[in-house]
Order: sequence, then structure tokens, then C-alpha cells
Amino acid sequence: MASEILQKSFDLKEYIVQVKRKIHREPELSMQEVATTAFVQSELKKMGIEMVPLGLNVGVLGIIEGKKKGKGKVTALRADMDALPIQETADVPDKSIVPGVMHACGHDCHTAMLLGAAKILLGMKDHFSGTVKLLFQPAEENLDGSKYMIEQGVLDNPKVDYILGLHGHSFYNIGEIALREGAYMASSDFFTVKITGASGHGAYPHRTGCDPILAASNSVMAIQSIITRQIDALDNVVISVCEIHGGTAKNIIPETVEFSGSVRCQNMETRNTIEERIRDVVQGVASSYKCEAKLDYHYGVPPLTNSPEVAKIVRESAQKLIGEQSVKYIDIPAMGSEDFSRYLEVVPEGVFARLGLCDPQKGAPVFHNGSFVFPEEALPYGTALFVQFVLEANQ
Ligand SMILES: [Zn+2]
Ligand SMILES: [Zn+2]
Repeated sequence: MASEILQKSFDLKEYIVQVKRKIHREPELSMQEVATTAFVQSELKKMGIEMVPLGLNVGVLGIIEGKKKGKGKVTALRADMDALPIQETADVPDKSIVPGVMHACGHDCHTAMLLGAAKILLGMKDHFSGTVKLLFQPAEENLDGSKYMIEQGVLDNPKVDYILGLHGHSFYNIGEIALREGAYMASSDFFTVKITGASGHGAYPHRTGCDPILAASNSVMAIQSIITRQIDALDNVVISVCEIHGGTAKNIIPETVEFSGSVRCQNMETRNTIEERIRDVVQGVASSYKCEAKLDYHYGVPPLTNSPEVAKIVRESAQKLIGEQSVKYIDIPAMGSEDFSRYLEVVPEGVFARLGLCDPQKGAPVFHNGSFVFPEEALPYGTALFVQFVLEANQ
């Protein structure tokens, strides 16, 4: 094996796999990662790594000082720790013992890979300057965890210069790393519209003349015209209405109907216009049916934009590990979201990269599905990338 760091990571594979299996067996949902947090703390403690206490009993911040303590760059490495409310169906040795909860997104593996990296970095303190911050974050799945970590001050004292996040991806093969410069993932915002009309007999709609079901139906369709008629066709936006509730019987016009949806944008300026556009459309449509519409709009995470400068460092790090041919370029942005984008709002010099999980023989794992299996052979590659990135960034 050409790379010394990749060799060190493979030498540590047994440890990383055992850590992953332990966390995989005992999954915890978002903001409930108490046992996982305690386990990570005990592992870091065993290694002798200093930790900074956080406000709640979820999430861990570990600190490793390089050879120029307090000087040199500060690099943050982030892993998420939460599981999903899904029943595991895969036949694996570390099958979840918690009914209805499983690691179906690989966050157990992200945590294990970062613990592996901590172990290697600790033995290589003479090879980098500055400080490494290990961020073990709760609650990525509900997109709240990074906000909590930032509020806990994990990016300050000392201020983080560079940040790297890594997530498994089923499009790329095991042993490959993929990334993209610039706009990568979308913002994630939510809305609820409440349409109020007047209830009445289904046989005599004209007596009230304000049917909220008709107003809601037309609002849902009219909202889609925002995308095609108001936004540049080259500017990526998705609006999906995913819930609609109203009515109690087949012959009663209800008084209210509510519907909710998700808004994804790649561009911050466009994102800031969507709330007003939806409000204009639903209020206009509702009033044409003699109904009233009220919009509640909730801002979630911003779009995720990778720094070209840091992407270059990550790419070069990955090339040293696995060779140029295995470092892939992600050529189109995605409309999914990641709460890593909040770190990038504070520390723009960061990258969210992807680790290949596809086994050409067995096929690609399906994320957020009971059958999801994160191939353990991929773990050392993630550990190695964290380590090599620090060596490149903290010279
Ligand atoms: Zn997920
Ligand atoms: Zn995930």
C-alpha cells in the first residue's frame, strides 16, 4: 500500500470496526445520544484526549494539540452520531437491539472513523502544527445538531480555520472519495398553510360559497407555478407539499384545511424570496375562493457551499491516499440538505466530502432503509482522509 496513513488506518481497522459495531447495536435518536456520547467520551479519555464540556449530555468536543501548541491552524473534523426511527431488517452481526431504531445513514460509522482518526493523530502530533478539534455532533437527521454545537462554542476558542465533514455515499465505490467545489447541497425550510373558509352541507356549497378544500387544492397547484414562472430555470429550487389535512365526513365542507411542505434552494438570494412568493400565491388563491390563507414559514439549514481552496486540500489529501483515479468529482449539486452547512456559515473554509460505499459485487446500500448496511471495508478510508487532511492543512 503506497500511503503510510492508509496503512495506519488499515492497521487500526479492527478497532474502528469494533467501535462501529458497538454503536450500531445500540442506536439512539436525535438529541437522545446519551449512551453514544458517554461511549465516545470514554474512548477519548482512554486515549488521553482533552475534552471541553458541552451544555447537555449529548455531543463531544475533543482537542488534540499539534507540535506548535496554540499556533498554526485550527482544523475541525466532524462526525454525526444519531440514528433513525427505522426497524433494522438486515442480517448483520451487530443488528440493532433497540426495536424500531437503527443506524440507517451510517452515522455510527462516521463516529467510529473519527475515533480511529483521533487515535492516529495522537500518535502523529509531531507531524502537524496547531490544533485539531474533534466534533461528535448529535441530531443531524433533524438538522438541529450543528446549531446546538455552534451555540456551545465549538467553533470558538480557538477559532476554527478549516472544517471537514465526511458522509457515506452509495454512488461511489468502496475506496473512492468524491467531492465538489462551490454549491453542493440545498437549504431546507418548511412551511404550513392554513386555509379557512366556512363549513356547510356538501349538497349546498353555494350557501357559504367559501370551500377551503377547493382553495387548498388550487393553492397546492399554484405554488408549483412559482418554480416554472417566477424563478430562472437554471436556478435549482424544489417545493414539495407533502401533507394535507382537512375534513371529517363525505358530506360536510370543512371550515379549515392545512397543508405543509418542504422548500429546497441552492441559492441564498432565491431562498430569501420564497416565503413571500408562497404567501402571495396562497393569499391570492384563497381570496379568489372567498377564503383566507395563513402561512407559517420555518427556516431550517442554509445551502451548503464547499470552499474551493479547502476542496483543493481535500482532493490532494485523498489523492495521496488512494491515487488520482479514485478521487471523483461530483459534477452536479444535490437537492438534499445537511446541517453541516451551518458550520460553513461560520467557517466558510470547509468541505463536506463523500466516502464511497458501493460494493460492485453486492451493490449499493439504500440509505434510510431497514436493509441499509455500511460496508466495514470502507471505514479505514474515512479515517485516513480525516488524518491526511489534518497533515495537509495544519502544516
Ligand atoms: Zn440521514
Ligand atoms: Zn446522514
